[in-house]
Amino acid sequence: MDPREQSLLDAVPTGLLIGGQWRDASTGARFGVDDPATGQQLTTVADASPADAMAALDAAAAAQEEWAATAPRVRGEILRKAFELITARADDFALLMTMEMGKALPEARGEVAYGAEFLRWFSEEAVRVAGRYQTAPDGKSRFLVLRKPVGPCLLITPWNFPLAMATRKAGAAIAAGCTMVIKPAKLTPLTTLLFAQVMLEAGVPAGVLNVIPTSSAGSTTGPLIADPRLRKLSFTGSTEVGVTLLQQAAENVLRTSMELGGNAPFLVFADADLDAAVDGALAAKLRNIGEACTAANRFYVQAPVAEEFSRRLAEKVAAKRVGRGTEDGIDIGPLIDERSRDKVHALVTDAVARGARVVTGGGPVSGPGWFYQPTVLSNVPADATVATEEIFGPVAPIITFDTEDEAVELANSTPYGLIAYAYTTDLNRALRLPERIESGMLGLNSGVISNPAAPFGGVKQSGMGREGGFEGIDEYLATMYVGIPSPF
Ligand code: NAP
Repeated sequence: MDPREQSLLDAVPTGLLIGGQWRDASTGARFGVDDPATGQQLTTVADASPADAMAALDAAAAAQEEWAATAPRVRGEILRKAFELITARADDFALLMTMEMGKALPEARGEVAYGAEFLRWFSEEAVRVAGRYQTAPDGKSRFLVLRKPVGPCLLITPWNFPLAMATRKAGAAIAAGCTMVIKPAKLTPLTTLLFAQVMLEAGVPAGVLNVIPTSSAGSTTGPLIADPRLRKLSFTGSTEVGVTLLQQAAENVLRTSMELGGNAPFLVFADADLDAAVDGALAAKLRNIGEACTAANRFYVQAPVAEEFSRRLAEKVAAKRVGRGTEDGIDIGPLIDERSRDKVHALVTDAVARGARVVTGGGPVSGPGWFYQPTVLSNVPADATVATEEIFGPVAPIITFDTEDEAVELANSTPYGLIAYAYTTDLNRALRLPERIESGMLGLNSGVISNPAAPFGGVKQSGMGREGGFEGIDEYLATMYVGIPSPF
């Protein structure tokens, strides 16, 4: 292994973080973390058992009262310090992320900047939580409205953005005064463990932030979700797992935030600036190897420009370089594992069997690692599985439409509603579309819109709650109303 990679791995903690201490699992078990570009094991990490998870909740519950009473400015300064420490170590974070997740280094650096920015944003929000004092309509009483930390939280994160998904939850929870147990994805725990180490350096007190990597997510988090001391579950991942967690959370009437799967439509109208639409499509499709909940999943292009759009997009897609993300000049890394690569290929095969044409790409790349050729498909039937299921890979299916009504109907014909994209230069259409499209977010003439200062989240089966923006901290606050007689 490259010496820089090895020394980074040697420096990253691989234990459980519980009550401010790095520990082995109580069972002594560990599990392996692989490099998806080679299929080789990078290292092993401690494998939390249900008992370890309970110890982490014990620590979070014990720290909650004092943490809630800690001055907002102090909490904000810790977040600010963490932002600075991560920014200073951006190269380490990026390399580690590339090694365990696969995205190319420039993209990993982008995620480090994006992920750190949540900490800076919430450092500024920590001191802006306000309640109110209000006269009742009949004048006979007064309302005092407090906003208090909701309490100990369980934060479950996915593998595709191992830093940003942790910081946008933990940053908001810390700002609000909540303690937490973080369960990172088993495929990418290392970035989260390095993040936890930095949080300790930044001054997060023992017990406030606990991390429990585990190879058995359900049996480890289940007892926490059933424990009355837990007050909040924030989950980012698939809709399928989200539904299971919502069912479990219902037993305990737990506050929940759910950032679930997507199936983003990308609409290109004949009046669009086609160069901008092609560039936006590249960004919305290929960012993160297509493994993003915000990835454009279905391209609906108006008939007069469909041929031209497909040609130009395919030209640029074909020029992308696929390889291990640590190498210079690589645009697209491997998919996360063999199962994901096989799933992507099955979707392409199904579309082709139904009459789609492969304009470029269309198959796995041979050799070690889970690479897939960036692919453009045209003439895709609207009901092909590639258009109805989340692809999570570098495949762009293009479907032609005639009218705006048809485009809107196609865009909305999904149980998901995370994000949509639309390219048009018609002002009225641009103003109509946000009112007609069923999604939590819309990129209007823009292929990437995620921003820590904006509310991220979906409608329909893409979830509930918002992360980032002014709204992000609300997810971690409980409202308390105190009724008082009129002083007059
Ligand atoms: P996933 O399989 O749902 O896993 C997400 C997390 O949940 C992982 O930490 C996983 O642990 C854990 N998990 C799995 N089963 C569980 C259970 N029964 N109980 C408790 N935790 C459980 O999703 P993924 O494949 O990692 O991530 C891809 C999905 O995330 C996509 O659908 C994508 O759209 C979605 N996503 C959504 C957003 C958003 O903001 N809306 C952002 C990013 C990703 P293990 O690692 O051990 O399986």
